[in-house]
Amino acid sequence: MPRPVQYNTKVKLVEMPKGYSGEGFFATSLDKVVGLARKNSLWPLPFATSCCGIEFMATMGSHYDLARFGSERMAFTPRQCDMLLVAGTIAKKMGPILREVYLQMAEPRWVIAIGACASSGGIFDSYSVLQGIDQVIPVDVYVPGCPPRPEGIIDGILKLQDLVASESLRRRTGPQYKALLEGYGIQ
Ligand code: SF4
Repeated sequence: MPRPVQYNTKVKLVEMPKGYSGEGFFATSLDKVVGLARKNSLWPLPFATSCCGIEFMATMGSHYDLARFGSERMAFTPRQCDMLLVAGTIAKKMGPILREVYLQMAEPRWVIAIGACASSGGIFDSYSVLQGIDQVIPVDVYVPGCPPRPEGIIDGILKLQDLVASESLRRRTGPQYKALLEGYGIQ
C-alpha cells in the first residue's frame, strides 16, 4: 500500500430522510413497522354460535395451528382482543349483544364474518335470523362457505393481515373509518 495512505475525500453526505427517531431506532415509515407488529399479533375473540364454530375449533387445533400466524392468544373478553370472529347463525335477538361486544373492543379492531350465516343469514331466510352481521357492525373480511373449511378461515385471516399491515397508524381518526362508524351510529 502506497504511503501516505490516501483516503477517499470525495464522500458526499446527504440530508437524513424524514422519519421518526427515538432512543436506538430510526424509521422512515413508522406506519409499516406498526402494521407489521399489528398484523402478526392479532388476538382473536371467537363469537361462535353454531356449526361454523366447530370449524374454528379445528382451525385453532394442532393440525391447522393458527398460532403460526401469531393468533394463538384467544380470549373471551372483548377488551383484550382486536379480531372479532363471528362464526355461526346470529339471531336478531343476539344482534344487540354482538354489537355490545364489538363496542367493548379497543381500537384498532377488526371483524371477520365466518361462513354463510354470519355473512348473509345463510339458508335461514327467516323472521328470526339476522341477514348478515354487517347489519349491526362493520365487517372487514367475509369468509364464504357452509361451513368454510379451516383453510378458508385461515385464508380470511391472511386477507385481514394484509389489510391490517397496510392501514394507517391512526385508523380510528381516518375520515373514511369515522364515516363508516357513524353509518352504524357509533361515535
Ligand atoms: S354457515 Fe352453514 S355451517 Fe356455518 S353456521 Fe351456518 S349453517 Fe352452520
